[in-house]
Amino acid sequence: MNIYLDNAATTAIDHEVFETMLPYLKSLYGNPSSLHAQGRQAKEAVEQARQSVAILLNVSPWEIIFTSGATEANNLALSGTIQAGNIRHVISSRIEHPSVLNCLKQHAKVGTIRLNYVKLNEKGHPELNHLEHLLRENSRSLISLMHANNEVGNLNNLRQISNLAQRYDAIFHSDTVQTIGAYAYDLKALPLDFLVGSAHKFHGPKGIGFLYINKRMKPNVLLYGGSQERNLRAGTENVSGIVGLAKALEITRRDHQETHAKIKSLKCSLIDGLQELFPAVAFNGDSASADCSLYSTVNVSLPKAEKDDSLLAWLDAHGIAASGGSACSSHGNSHVLKELSVNGTRENIRFSFSKFNTEADVKCLLEKLGQYYAIYQTSLPSYVFAE
Ligand code: PMP
Repeated sequence: MNIYLDNAATTAIDHEVFETMLPYLKSLYGNPSSLHAQGRQAKEAVEQARQSVAILLNVSPWEIIFTSGATEANNLALSGTIQAGNIRHVISSRIEHPSVLNCLKQHAKVGTIRLNYVKLNEKGHPELNHLEHLLRENSRSLISLMHANNEVGNLNNLRQISNLAQRYDAIFHSDTVQTIGAYAYDLKALPLDFLVGSAHKFHGPKGIGFLYINKRMKPNVLLYGGSQERNLRAGTENVSGIVGLAKALEITRRDHQETHAKIKSLKCSLIDGLQELFPAVAFNGDSASADCSLYSTVNVSLPKAEKDDSLLAWLDAHGIAASGGSACSSHGNSHVLKELSVNGTRENIRFSFSKFNTEADVKCLLEKLGQYYAIYQTSLPSYVFAE
């Protein structure tokens, strides 16, 4: 048995994507900067991919810069803007991804910026009154707030944040890694300055991502080298990865209605099943909300059993892959759960679905959870076996 429920960490590559990439790994290996036919062919593939991503976001192709992933894209947007020199104040939140938080903390440490964290409400959403207060008190700020949190799935309202950013002439960067592909973006209707994507989160390959840079932004470069990517990101382009990213995004958007409904119903089944198993079950952040949470992610707080190994390790040994939070912090304690004052003595587990999961996966997971608590915590009063 092998049930993969860690799709917020990474997803399986789509077969159609793999097939589209193959020629660029085998015969079409030209360097897009070369002037000969092979080079021109590779260049055309990169530009077609850029066009395809741009159409899906309703932006100009030259506003899309391909990077090695979202970590690089976040760093380019943030450090690039700070180093360009006209931003001295940044507003973010304490539950951002480490590629945002650690980048900003480093700038604050060396004194290039003052960093304020917006207050979060009890569910972990930014307090917009506080955000507005910070914007009013400081001249020209950079806001960095993610769309969906990768650990608990909280969805932030980008439109409200964007409205505030516009009102106070702030720059708005959003880490949209968990929602690119999952939701439609029309950046003509929703003004943002920077937005990021990473192909391996939507059934594309690893090691390729992109940064959308609004035309009014002129970030500094981080990597010095050749003139690739409008002089903003030096280095020979990852042609197969770029082609794969664009294909994966096209497929995700093409099949969106169907997959959204399917995944959302898996999440509902899991929430219902958990509530049946443990009537007093708690969900972390706003994970159980239908509207303010990512439709693919459930972060649940379960009782600790009388056993040395964690529930996660037991599930893993029984063929079920899930995680305690972000893959990027799987070896340490989750800064997100800590910030949301989640009880660390419980089993806090993130289950995240993709289009490849089924109701049978959910049923099997619930059965395994039932077995686990039947074996290791027979004293649990609310235990009921879900058939
Ligand atoms: N931001 C978020 C919200 C993420 O979930 C991740 C991946 N864990 C990243 C950034 C970094 O993405 P990448 O793996 O492409 O560097």
